[in-house]
Amino acid sequence: MTKDWSQRTRSVHAGTRRSQYGELSEAIFLTQGFAYENAEAAEARFIECGEDEYIYARYGNPTVRMFEERIAAIEGAEDAFATASGMAAVSGALMALLKAGDHVVASKALFGSCLFILENVLGKFGVETTFVDGTDLAQWEAALRPDTKAVFFESVANPTLEVVDIRGVAELAHKVGALVIVDNVFASPVFSDAIAQGADVVVYSATKHIDGQGRVLGGVVLGTTEFIRGTFEPYMKHVGAALSPFNAWILLKGLETMSLRVNAQCDTAQALAEAALDHPKVARVLFPGLPVHAQHDLATAQMKRPGTVVSIDLAGGQEAAFRFINALKIVKISNNLGDAKTIITHPATTTHQRLKEEQKLALGITRGLVRISAGIEDTADIVADIAQALEAI
Ligand SMILES: *Cc1c(COP(=O)(O)O)cnc(C)c1O
Repeated sequence: MTKDWSQRTRSVHAGTRRSQYGELSEAIFLTQGFAYENAEAAEARFIECGEDEYIYARYGNPTVRMFEERIAAIEGAEDAFATASGMAAVSGALMALLKAGDHVVASKALFGSCLFILENVLGKFGVETTFVDGTDLAQWEAALRPDTKAVFFESVANPTLEVVDIRGVAELAHKVGALVIVDNVFASPVFSDAIAQGADVVVYSATKHIDGQGRVLGGVVLGTTEFIRGTFEPYMKHVGAALSPFNAWILLKGLETMSLRVNAQCDTAQALAEAALDHPKVARVLFPGLPVHAQHDLATAQMKRPGTVVSIDLAGGQEAAFRFINALKIVKISNNLGDAKTIITHPATTTHQRLKEEQKLALGITRGLVRISAGIEDTADIVADIAQALEAI
């Protein structure tokens, strides 16, 4: 039934569980515990917890379960497990799977905290990571070894918007039996088909497009029933980065409007990328939806639409970037993305400040680079705001 529905219909209806009141909008079950009829029922629940039965909110909760089932249906995954944040999902997926002596291959263009987990946390426990240029399949092939347990990459990298070939990497990784774990935030559940393209595990920071209104932190790990129930759940239910039922409810309602929001955001991203392209103050525009993007063809084949984030490299370096940012009237300066509000950030001095200068340059994070996450305001208003700020440089 759910399988025959289009993604937009699943976004509104999948996973809904109704109480005896038949409430139309999903209920928030703001409870950590569940009362049993008698001692025998409690014992039975601990021996085998049924499909719609709960023990403790760290293991599961009806509102959290509705969110997990809805996002799994949208993504086409067998199952999902929600977490307190995107980083709890990323670190949990890796930690649950890996042990000392295992090898990982990862793209080097990663969100700072993902890099920290691989280098500092997993490194401390004896997991070795080889970093490659994620866009170069030959580098993936050369780095993969018989003891490689997992590959990890962002399907679209932050903030330079390089696209990794999911099918290509998955084919190589599966030859050595490695699990393909994809951080799919920039592609969003709306535009990506990562599981159909070979990803074994997909991770989202639900803080971004899934909430989409800047309210809560959340995360989710999606994959086969075997991975979610056999590998991830036993780890996470004891480690304890459980999603609050209140936040799950926010995210569940966020999923209802996600497709509308993300498509509107993509319209604006495409329009502002095109408007900035030939401007004399602009050195480069990075957006997978532009034919000049190095992986435009791959992005077109791999994603339904090119996403909601545009990076612009200003010819005048940091001084020009700061003037541009400070001249914006509608666009807000913040480091979230996927929000209803259009947001700008200067990666070199904020999100990627701690990287060494040569690391920044190797990743394409120049002093003139600004990252813009398109919101759901009127496209013409945002394009006009960007245009007047470019004039102000
Ligand atoms: C934001 C983000 C994360 C971390 O998510 P949180 O919800 O902030 O913990 C991980 N990966 C990517 C690509 C992100 O953009």
